[in-house]
Amino acid sequence: RILLDKFSKSFGDVRVIEDMTLEIKDGEMLALLGPSGCGKSTTLFAISGIHKVTGGRILFGDRDMTGVPSQERNVGVVFQSYALYPHMTVADNIAFPLRIRKLPEAEVKRQMEEMANLVHIEALLNRRPAELSGGQQQRVALARALVRRPNVLLLDEPLANLDAKLRLEMRSEIRRIQLETGITAILVTHDQVEAMSMCDRIAIMNAGQIIQIATPQEMYRNPRTAFVAGFLG
Ligand code: ATP
Ligand code: MG
Repeated sequence: RILLDKFSKSFGDVRVIEDMTLEIKDGEMLALLGPSGCGKSTTLFAISGIHKVTGGRILFGDRDMTGVPSQERNVGVVFQSYALYPHMTVADNIAFPLRIRKLPEAEVKRQMEEMANLVHIEALLNRRPAELSGGQQQRVALARALVRRPNVLLLDEPLANLDAKLRLEMRSEIRRIQLETGITAILVTHDQVEAMSMCDRIAIMNAGQIIQIATPQEMYRNPRTAFVAGFLG
């Protein structure tokens, strides 16, 4: 499990997150749902270690990761823009995290192919990112995030750049891949339908705080505040 224990984050004098406590259970997919500017990406940056927290602790299992640098946390990240390496083939993009670890080349190839099969891009391995559709690029980004067998998969609006049809397809694909790998995952979104259809639990955020955390059914039946009800429609 991942635990944010009274985590705070300020930028200069501006407090963006204040004493936020949030637990993500092993193997669950949790949606972080809230309006623009409420602190969703800031929360992911704190978990991944890209930003230092200003207060509180970040735990992976029992290990306190608060001061641990990003590279040592082994976190898989997929952003809205896929940020693939444009000059590398799909195969080399996926293999990149393994080559950094200096795995033997035969093992790199085996694990790269296993991930390509998981996300169904085995026919595209020799292409470059510019020769792929948005959905295909997002599959490559997922494979590259998962190939390192991360402690947690962080998805920040991964579907926002896709057209409506691809977005629907990738919703179920991301969920399938998460269930198949059993990986603990956090999906940041401001789309309530996406959160409801893809995740085990939803945490509703507003202005740097968690307002309610519940399963989609519980939350729909029993929204704690008018804000939650309004946000869910
Ligand atoms: P969106 O849905 O638009 O992506 P978000 O919920 O991800 O929004 P964050 O990016 O976490 O929002 O930002 C939360 C708040 O922190 C915003 O008010 C933002 O302006 C502020 N903020 C984020 N990064 C910085 C920074 N590097 N310096 C100063 N303020 C920042
Ligand atoms: Mg954001």
